[in-house]
Amino acid sequence: MNILVINCGSSSLKYQLINSDTEAVLAKGLCERIGIDGSLLTHTPAGKDKVKIETPMPNHTTAIQLVINALTDAGHGVIKSLDEIGAVGHRVVHGGEKFASSVVINDEVMKAIEECNDLAPLHNPANLIGINSCKEIMPNVPMVAVFDTAFHQTMPEKAYLYGLPYEYYEKYKVRRYGFHGTSHDYVSARAAEILGKKREDMKIIVCHLGNGASISAVDHGKCVDTSMGLTPLEGLIMGTRSGDIDPAICDFICQKEGLTPAEMNNVLNKKSGVYGMTGISSDFRDIEAAEAEGNHRAKAALDAFHYRVAKYIGSYVAAMNGVDAIAFTAGVGENNKVGRAEISKYLGYLGTEIDDEKNNVRGEDRVISKDGCKVAMLCVPTNEELAIARQTLELVK
Ligand code: AMP
Repeated sequence: MNILVINCGSSSLKYQLINSDTEAVLAKGLCERIGIDGSLLTHTPAGKDKVKIETPMPNHTTAIQLVINALTDAGHGVIKSLDEIGAVGHRVVHGGEKFASSVVINDEVMKAIEECNDLAPLHNPANLIGINSCKEIMPNVPMVAVFDTAFHQTMPEKAYLYGLPYEYYEKYKVRRYGFHGTSHDYVSARAAEILGKKREDMKIIVCHLGNGASISAVDHGKCVDTSMGLTPLEGLIMGTRSGDIDPAICDFICQKEGLTPAEMNNVLNKKSGVYGMTGISSDFRDIEAAEAEGNHRAKAALDAFHYRVAKYIGSYVAAMNGVDAIAFTAGVGENNKVGRAEISKYLGYLGTEIDDEKNNVRGEDRVISKDGCKVAMLCVPTNEELAIARQTLELVK
């Protein structure tokens, strides 16, 4: 069966068509600037040249129709007709407390996703638009929602409650949810597989270090803690997000700079992290280059980033009373050998040490700690689209 995986943002849409029998990606692509001038579809069919199609996309339904046209095109298409799409898997950012696993989408599910809009006002409405547009074009194709938050729903109360008045949890569901769940699930399962063990027998820490970054503690196959919270702002220092700060800083800066709470929120999400710390870039490659040229703020930001990751690892070792494997994934985790080596310098007390030769790897599944270490460290490329396709297949077959 061919499964179309859709990741819909407010003005963008990423897709992959995956053959679920072979797990091969038949085509992938991106619609940019939906609803804005200069809309662009970049379509990459497997084994063929990339095609760029510049055409107006006033809304997501037009964008999805263009994706279907590209997939079925006589030249750069990979299927003959819509009939060759057996199911659609949608990434949905927030499932609140309603969804602890993926679900087949029906009217009730749509309503429940909408009820979570409050918790992810930038993402969930866009995800719903994507689902509605697909339903319009493919009314008879089954669709599945795969939630970023679902894998973390196994967190115990002690991990998800904030030290806030309980009524905020009761009235507004203010608690920790966690994100990147599809990645944490996939990577922890893959790490166990690489080590030839069962995830159910292991304690694993997954470090998803990308532009957005989060860590999770996966104890015997279940997430027991993760670093992101009510929103994806909590936890690690990220590309442009602050991660953990003293909450009193918000009021302090609002008063000093005359900012509204919404403006402060924007600073924390878009102008902070390594970007705000360095004033250079949110891309770790640019910051590494600046560090190599002797830029102090670049070095300080990278040091703080690595230190925060190491502190979280330590706290999750405590949460699980041990750890068997630590897996690095996402843009920085998969590609940045220097970052992995720097973080591992803090982990000697666990009985693990990086193997420089094995760590000299990019985007490849591999154990990167020395042979015989008590705790294995691994590089595990994440594949959220494949994980979404697998979960979709599971529910529709
Ligand atoms: P992601 O959000 O997972 O796509 O990760 C994107 C981030 O990965 C970029 O912002 C880069 O900072 C980082 N990245 C990608 N390749 C490298 C690399 N070779 N070295 C360091 N960082 C990288």
